[in-house]
Amino acid sequence: MTKPLLVLGSANADLVVEVGRRPGGGETVLGGDTVVLPGGKGANTAVAAARVGASVALVGALGDDGYGSLLRSSLEDSGVDTALVKTSQRPTGIAYITVTPDGENSIVVSPGANADVAESDVDALSFDGVQVLTCSLEVPLETVIHAIDAASKAGVKTVLNLSPVAELPAETLKQLTTLIVNEHEAAQLASDWRHLLRLGPHTAIVTLGERGVAVVLPAGVKEIPGVKVDKVVDTTGAGDAFAGAFSARLAEGDRVVVAAEYAVKVAALSVTKAGAQPSYPTAAEVSSPVA
Ligand code: ATP
Repeated sequence: MTKPLLVLGSANADLVVEVGRRPGGGETVLGGDTVVLPGGKGANTAVAAARVGASVALVGALGDDGYGSLLRSSLEDSGVDTALVKTSQRPTGIAYITVTPDGENSIVVSPGANADVAESDVDALSFDGVQVLTCSLEVPLETVIHAIDAASKAGVKTVLNLSPVAELPAETLKQLTTLIVNEHEAAQLASDWRHLLRLGPHTAIVTLGERGVAVVLPAGVKEIPGVKVDKVVDTTGAGDAFAGAFSARLAEGDRVVVAAEYAVKVAALSVTKAGAQPSYPTAAEVSSPVA
């Protein structure tokens, strides 16, 4: 059965190690114990949506290896349907992350199976009963372009988290219901937020960290202030939390501004806990009086 929300994107194993300092070329340093965390922008977005109650399937690829099994079960444990996550001949995508005492991350991403998410996988999809397709960019750009085209032609709403910024055909931008970018990405695309709609999307959302978001509508810009939290623990994956929760509400029929107001609350809660996926709140946590 097709789910009302499809997320097309990456799934990675994040291998995190703390180091006193980064090694230079030809050098070896000892680090702490390796922590393995589920990651990847697609998987994060799908998990954020599932945690707030969306019926969601991830379209992606994992390797036929230990990390692949681990990620598949962690997605399923979070309530994400993995029937459309294929098993590739390539190894599961891995992000090698070193963290220094100042909290700075250095990351090497090996896309592996994510590079195998293909236009033919999109052709095999049925959009019957799908309300929203949400894409992010750690899978091949041509696949994302093809998926947005197919979904839009099937009357499905389309959301693109354009991170990192990539060149897209004008036609693809016109097919977007909502383009989501952070402040830095927005600045690369347009001199003024208002001008984002000139690129083609029906609406655009600029995420502004603790300041919340700006929703760009044909009638003007609506700013939604961030939710103040007592203590910021870890902002990793806040953008994906926003995109997932926003897509979940859009698939339930909320209007763009209403969905964005909800997603701002979800993203704020996500920065109060460590990690990306483990920090994503449930619908009950979002509606509790402290939220
Ligand atoms: P990341 O790359 O860390 O996932 P991003 O750069 O894509 O993040 P941000 O704009 O930093 O995206 O954050 C996304 C959303 O998360 C913001 O629009 C806001 O709603 C929420 N958020 C981020 N940081 C905070 C914070 N310190 N306090 C409250 N909400 C926050």
